[in-house]
Amino acid sequence: MPEDHLLKGLRRFKEEYFPRYEEEYRKLVDDGQHPNTLFIGCSDSRILPNLLTGAAPGELFIVRNVGNIVPPFAPALGYHGTCAAIEFAVLNLQVKDIVVCGHSHCGAIRALYSPPLPGSTHLAKWLELAQEATLPVTLSEEALRRTEQRSIIVQLERLMSYPMVRERVEKGELFLHGWHYTIEEGEVSILDVHSGRFVSSSIPGVSS
Ligand SMILES: [Zn+2]
Repeated sequence: MPEDHLLKGLRRFKEEYFPRYEEEYRKLVDDGQHPNTLFIGCSDSRILPNLLTGAAPGELFIVRNVGNIVPPFAPALGYHGTCAAIEFAVLNLQVKDIVVCGHSHCGAIRALYSPPLPGSTHLAKWLELAQEATLPVTLSEEALRRTEQRSIIVQLERLMSYPMVRERVEKGELFLHGWHYTIEEGEVSILDVHSGRFVSSSIPGVSS
């Protein structure tokens, strides 16, 4: 049974929050969902995509996994929840934007520099998909932040291996974005594709 305060939260949602937005929810059921953005984020419990962006129900199609990783487009390899979500968002929902959002103090990124946990076969294999972001340096908080950001770029590049993504990006119908969220500062930095650097989103005029 989940913790008591979670169950209380369910009741509060039904009794206090839902009545205020009932009409919007009904509309989202009658008309279906039409989110413009696919948000690929980490499973980390400190990441709250809707709180971070202020997105209302129906605005973000979200897929989360350990390390906000994009697996390669490789249909023959097996069961892929993240790949399925990407395909659905692009082909069916026709999203206009895809955000890959990494974050500070990401356990998945730190794990790239440590031996795998005993028994974590799936995790060890999964993290191979971020390995190329690691740096040949002594481990430091600064190196970890840089690795988190480098991994975001790796994942964005891998998104382009999806034929439906590449096609729509090349037509100018779909835009890819890299975000890095610094938990302790409440700040999201956005990848500037021209400089390859992450730039504070609180600077006026940053909109990519
Ligand atoms: Zn993480």
